[in-house]
Amino acid sequence: MTHKKLNLPQKICPVCGKPFSWRKKWQNCWEEVIYCSERCRKNKN
Ligand SMILES: [Zn+2]
Repeated sequence: MTHKKLNLPQKICPVCGKPFSWRKKWQNCWEEVIYCSERCRKNKN
């Protein structure tokens, strides 16, 4: 079984500066996602 690789949207995390890809857990709030992880969200300062 082969999976066609989807072209997932990406964003750059402003805290760690790394790109991160769309995840299923963000399917309903991707527009609002800014940080790559909870850890970065807490480290924004
Ligand atoms: Zn990050």
